Amino acid sequence: MICPGCKGLLYPQGDQLACRRCGHTQAKGAVQVIDHEREKKEQVVMDSVDGTLPRTTIICDKCGHGEATWVLRQTRAADEPATRIYQCTGCRHKWREY
Ligand SMILES: [Zn+2]
Ligand SMILES: [Zn+2]
Repeated sequence: MICPGCKGLLYPQGDQLACRRCGHTQAKGAVQVIDHEREKKEQVVMDSVDGTLPRTTIICDKCGHGEATWVLRQTRAADEPATRIYQCTGCRHKWREY
């Protein structure tokens, strides 16, 4: 195991791991997971919304902007109509058509 603080080696000390260089200690088996992957995916989803979707003239009820992109989202029940989801191109506010 490597110390996350100083990159030194961690040595077992009781039921913990301890760094002899900076004094950092952590529980044995603890793994630090940094969730960068999820952040990236969410960013990609937001980026793909612009430019590829049809646009329509509609007033955003949040900022008053007059244009929004829209997608059709099919509900699971076959007898229900698809819902149109709008996203304001000004403030990125999302809402659905009722
Ligand atoms: Zn250390
Ligand atoms: Zn808006």
